[in-house]
Amino acid sequence: MPIIDSSINLRIKDSKPPKVCQSLECPDYHTGYGNRKMKMCSRCNVVRYCSNTCQREDWPEHKLFCQIPPLLDIGEWMEMYDPLLRWALIEGLNLRNEPSNILSDALLVRLTRMDRIMVGVAPTPFLIDSVCRIPWAKMQSIGLSQEPRLKASRKIIEDGGVGQGLVVLWISDQLSGTIFRFQYHTIQALPPGEKGASCPGWQKIVKAVANGEIPVDLLSRMLEDRPSDSEEAASI
Ligand SMILES: [Zn+2]
Ligand SMILES: [Zn+2]
Repeated sequence: MPIIDSSINLRIKDSKPPKVCQSLECPDYHTGYGNRKMKMCSRCNVVRYCSNTCQREDWPEHKLFCQIPPLLDIGEWMEMYDPLLRWALIEGLNLRNEPSNILSDALLVRLTRMDRIMVGVAPTPFLIDSVCRIPWAKMQSIGLSQEPRLKASRKIIEDGGVGQGLVVLWISDQLSGTIFRFQYHTIQALPPGEKGASCPGWQKIVKAVANGEIPVDLLSRMLEDRPSDSEEAASI
């Protein structure tokens, strides 16, 4: 199913399924299908059949995962988790201790399409697989120029801010291919009173919140409750 980004009116189509009959009982599986058209299941567009008979025979099996594909809106997802990703950027790049990391590094978030994992209405269209800090240099290999961001950062730094941080969202999928989306965060000031090491376990927290294991409103409470660095050092 297409991934869309409603924030910029982008629509990315899935590629079509391979020309193989989905039915396990298909008599022509080993001999090829002649010149017959391999029609797609009109409901899900994810599988093909060489004949109506094959489609009928496979239906008891196929109906378990055949669904009208949902629209996967990455723009809406990014907007919803904007504060979370911003926080992850600050923690992941350790900006409170080394603000200059914003110039050399970025945050990489790998996403999986939820419709590939489960059937029915998913609680969120994307699942975070992993989130990590990567050197900016790696982003150049996907053709992203750093210059505009450096320029913006210099301006922000001149005005007493931290800079412009980059979050890279990476959705890799057999049908839709690899999709990158970028999110820029202008960081004027860091949250007060949070000097010290990065929040321990920030990656786990980001995943848990975005994947629906922790309600968003609980995050702020968790962060307020986390032990200060001195307490943590004392308990070791
Ligand atoms: Zn067939
Ligand atoms: Zn189907």
